[in-house]
Amino acid sequence: MFRKDFPYFQNSKTVYLDNGATTQKPKSVIDSQVEYYEQYCSNTHRSNFGHANKATSEFEKTRKLLKEFINASKNEEIIFTKGVTESINFIASSYAIDFKTVIISSLEHHSNIVPWHMQNRTLGAGLEVVNCNENLDFDLEHFEELLKANPNAFVSITHVSNAFGKVHDVKTITKLAHKYGAVVMIDAAQSLAHFKVDIQELDVDFYAISGHKTFAPTGVGAIYIKEKYLKNIKPYQTGGATIHEVDYSGSILLDSPYKFEAGTQNIAGVIGFGKALEYINHVRYENIQSLENKVFKYLNEELSKLPGIIFYNDLTNCVGSRSFNFKGIIHDDIGILLDKMQIAVRVGHHCAQPIMKKLGIRGTIRVSTAFYNDYVDVDKLIEALKKALSMLK
Ligand code: PLP
Repeated sequence: MFRKDFPYFQNSKTVYLDNGATTQKPKSVIDSQVEYYEQYCSNTHRSNFGHANKATSEFEKTRKLLKEFINASKNEEIIFTKGVTESINFIASSYAIDFKTVIISSLEHHSNIVPWHMQNRTLGAGLEVVNCNENLDFDLEHFEELLKANPNAFVSITHVSNAFGKVHDVKTITKLAHKYGAVVMIDAAQSLAHFKVDIQELDVDFYAISGHKTFAPTGVGAIYIKEKYLKNIKPYQTGGATIHEVDYSGSILLDSPYKFEAGTQNIAGVIGFGKALEYINHVRYENIQSLENKVFKYLNEELSKLPGIIFYNDLTNCVGSRSFNFKGIIHDDIGILLDKMQIAVRVGHHCAQPIMKKLGIRGTIRVSTAFYNDYVDVDKLIEALKKALSMLK
């Protein structure tokens, strides 16, 4: 129904099931890139002529859209970045750096593990990991034990696992964390393409957002920072466009968001991000969820019929990603054969090596859907998997 909005599907016969890696972009997003570069390419927040003013106002329009989209309180709480990786690195190396303990979950992407290692934090020495059960569910009791043993910790947890599709109950996690004086950052890379988020309801302190996983161009994202932290957080990079005044004895920084957005930003990307948010508003989350849920359920039913399939979790609290293996078959081999049949999935560790190690595997085959995937995509995938399995037996 909405597939016609995505030029990729007119130009390619590939069955695209790698949305966890990046989503396709609607025409309105693509057009906005051409329009910016062909019609009003100028820098923002500097020059004061017509096209520069238009670039600035289109850029700031996205900030307002995103603020409304997630129900933040103020435009100033939205800071643009390159994506979730930069958002987490920013907060890790500024606000969170002095925290004695950082608590993460067992299902984190490397983007929410490696930045902590770079601060010489290792398990039990500045870094704690919340257990999950055999269905990969977050262990709230263990979390509470960790919070009790490490008061005033920094909690940094993914909203949705990119490797297994598990959705963490962020509202409950945040409430519990706050009870023990902890501050909470959420990795939302895999959230906004699938469901609505209300920051007031979640009450998180930091929320790291990825544009390219939400139908926007690559190289753009954002970090939501709750207003009460804005004044005291130091930028992790500074330079042009961040200052009120500079002389050789010092610099006076602007207020948020500008003090955090050093140098020329990804202007086209931010404008495209706004178009992606407008597009989601046009499609509406009710439709996104109902279309995707049906196909995701069908995908699971059809996969379950394949001989020798191994899942690592059931479908409770899952969205977007389904990970599996076949008994006695190497996931990479399946990936190579699927590619030859023009089926795009991801095989490997999905930037989540610790959980793969815990499960005693090197990786999985991950099928990740978006609302534009349909039953035909699933049928083609299943057909291709059957062929691949027969070739590898
Ligand atoms: N966190 C999770 C859960 C992800 O899935 C990804 C990307 O795969 C990232 C972080 C990194 O996001 P970005 O590409 O926006 O830096």
